[in-house]
Amino acid sequence: MGGDPRALAGRTILAVFAHPDDESLACGGTLARAADAGARVVLLCASRGERGSISDPSLVPDGDLGRVRAHELRDAAATLGIAEVTILDHPDGDLRWAHVPELHAEIVTTIERCRPDAIITFGEDGLYWHLDHIGIHERTYTAVLSFGAAAPPLYYVTLPKGAMRDIVEAAHERGGAPHGSSFWGIAPDAFGDAAKPPDFVVDVREWAGRKLAALRCHRTQMGRHNPIAWIEEADARRLLGFELFRRAPIASTGAAVLEQFADRVAST
Ligand SMILES: [Zn+2]
Repeated sequence: MGGDPRALAGRTILAVFAHPDDESLACGGTLARAADAGARVVLLCASRGERGSISDPSLVPDGDLGRVRAHELRDAAATLGIAEVTILDHPDGDLRWAHVPELHAEIVTTIERCRPDAIITFGEDGLYWHLDHIGIHERTYTAVLSFGAAAPPLYYVTLPKGAMRDIVEAAHERGGAPHGSSFWGIAPDAFGDAAKPPDFVVDVREWAGRKLAALRCHRTQMGRHNPIAWIEEADARRLLGFELFRRAPIASTGAAVLEQFADRVAST
């Protein structure tokens, strides 16, 4: 661990997600690890997450949740070492169908502008069949495909099966998360359940504290009802310490990038 000082110097990694907090939950550890290894990490977030929950109304005094969540995302990005954040204003909850050509063009333009050596986004399952996440998967896939052989490698991130259930159990032990708790109304076992097997696992235990800190920057999403709000830094290595990736089957000539972080080839 920690054996990759500057291994990604001069490289750029682009992450494309749907809402503020996706970046931290899905792959905050890998983004932080890549930044520490010298990569310029760029985040494109398609919406401001204006239809999310509000843990405490005093956090959103003027009712403009999208504005508050954009600030939260910038705080989280700073925590993770993300160098550049672009937040688009596509409609939260309708990302799969709204503004399809516009979003496609924006992803293409971002790729042309920042020339990433690797791109990370959701897989086909959208982590838990979240339609916004699936929409981002679709738009990013077609945008990357449009570069033909010049496309950078595209990686799909997912969560280890059972990871969210473990978080609920840890939260329960600490006095939160009553039985039957969910994440934003999603059953814990739904996360990662339908994902195809990963090609490799990135060990981010050393970065799990920063990942948890970044998640907590999303304060409007971290009320007492959210099991993640209950876990402590001592739990983070175990509960947030592994992130799973699969390389998209596209004809990219780009060199392997994230594979440098592969901890072990996943067997399942
Ligand atoms: Zn999301």
